[in-house]
Amino acid sequence: MIEHWIGGRRAGSAETFTDVSPIDGRELTEVARGGPAEVDAAVAAAKKAFPAWARTTRAKRAEVLHAIADGVEKRLEELAITETEDNGALLRSHRRGVMPRVAHNFRFFADWLLRLEHEDFDTRGHTNHVSWDPAGPCALITPWNAPLMLATWKIAPALAAGDTVVLKPAEWSPRTASLLAEIAAEAGLPDGVYNVVQGYGDEAGGPLVAHPDIRRISFTGSVPTARRIAAAAAANLTPLSLELGGKSPLLVFADADLDLAVDLAVEQYDNAGQVCLAATRILVEQPIAEEFTERFVARASKLRQGDPRDEATDIGPNVHERQLAKIDGYVQRALAAGARAVIGGGPNTDLGGLYYRPTLLTDVEQSSQIVQEEVFGPVLTLQTFTSEDEAVRLANDTQFGLAATLATGDRDRAGRVTEQLVAGTVWVNCFFVRDLQAPFGGSRQSGIGREGGNWSFDFYCDLKNTVSAPKGWSDRG
Ligand code: NAD
Repeated sequence: MIEHWIGGRRAGSAETFTDVSPIDGRELTEVARGGPAEVDAAVAAAKKAFPAWARTTRAKRAEVLHAIADGVEKRLEELAITETEDNGALLRSHRRGVMPRVAHNFRFFADWLLRLEHEDFDTRGHTNHVSWDPAGPCALITPWNAPLMLATWKIAPALAAGDTVVLKPAEWSPRTASLLAEIAAEAGLPDGVYNVVQGYGDEAGGPLVAHPDIRRISFTGSVPTARRIAAAAAANLTPLSLELGGKSPLLVFADADLDLAVDLAVEQYDNAGQVCLAATRILVEQPIAEEFTERFVARASKLRQGDPRDEATDIGPNVHERQLAKIDGYVQRALAAGARAVIGGGPNTDLGGLYYRPTLLTDVEQSSQIVQEEVFGPVLTLQTFTSEDEAVRLANDTQFGLAATLATGDRDRAGRVTEQLVAGTVWVNCFFVRDLQAPFGGSRQSGIGREGGNWSFDFYCDLKNTVSAPKGWSDRG
């Protein structure tokens, strides 16, 4: 049974729901189904713990965060397997990429905290001193596609800043947040600083973001949910950060290294396409479109789909039958509207369960749903362009602005195009390189605010400027 974690203790609920593995439909565990009462208790615990944690020295906070990172590293294999069973993402990525980065999230913000400084500055002989005051209890709401990674992008800077948190993990991937509670307690994090309320979005997440004692809301998830959260935040004027969906382009110019471009395109099937940043719209310059497509098909046909616990697997299952149905709905509507499936086009019936064949669709209209809306599955579209202007126009022509990837051999072109793209992150001849000191987030409907480095710290703090006069001091100094 997975319970809530409130004030340093496990706590149950009268009702539960079942956590089912997308790998084989196995029932993994029952999970406490939280609601307003559990939210009230968790926020009260976070509020109670706040003054002491906020006063804890930076050095002590950093020490605890490093101890949490040690604990994550010690239990890395257990965390990796747990998350793979929960959301079906590849075990090899969890082992070698995701969980080490979870530990790094704590180390990074621990070290950043110790370096955080603003130089004082002078205004007509008066000294300005900027400080970061902890804001208070924070509500953190996260999705299932990279549960612990995305949660710790928020937890680590919030705790480093001196805030306390209540996390509401996604109901399809509840377990690693609970393991983290044990790790944090063993690391010496005081009771009530990290709290977890399990449950459904509207039942547990809704009351949490509407709670008047919450001082910050940080949300990663979909646009429709973000609208509901923003409306709740408006009632209390709670500052919020929103990391939302995307429909990012991969622009392949005729002067690109074609092998590299094909690799970048195939990489978009990672995590069975359940990646917010995925460049799902491939835009290829007309003269190389045929060759690119041939090479893409050859490369994609080598991908091995299967059990995500197998180290040889490249593409695992999608997270839930509802997600699979959503993905297939998008694809079937696109095919009915005249799109052509170059590869894929339906569930992988050989494997059964929740596996969807990696799909590439051509003959798609720019205004169509398949080009405009986030599918969040292993489904890419391919369109062509004949000029740089057209490439930029197509790239920018959605409601989103999360990321963009370019493949080009021409540095001047890379500079020109990048400048015109609406995107929080642009990758040139690479993909998914992410440094925590860089700002991360989206424009337009892809979000509000940025995470990373100072952007995270500023969000989780009440910034204060203290202006001191040169006069009035009893020592006349
Ligand atoms: P979702 O919006 O359905 O759910 C996200 C979280 O919000 C879950 O924990 C859910 O329980 C909770 N929630 C739902 N309704 C709520 C409500 N009324 N009040 C408070 N909380 C509520 O999203 P999802 O399907 O879990 O995740 C996929 C989405 O997340 C995609 O759109 C993807 O692009 C996006 N995403 C964005 C980023 C990013 O950094 N920009 C990263 C990963 C995923």
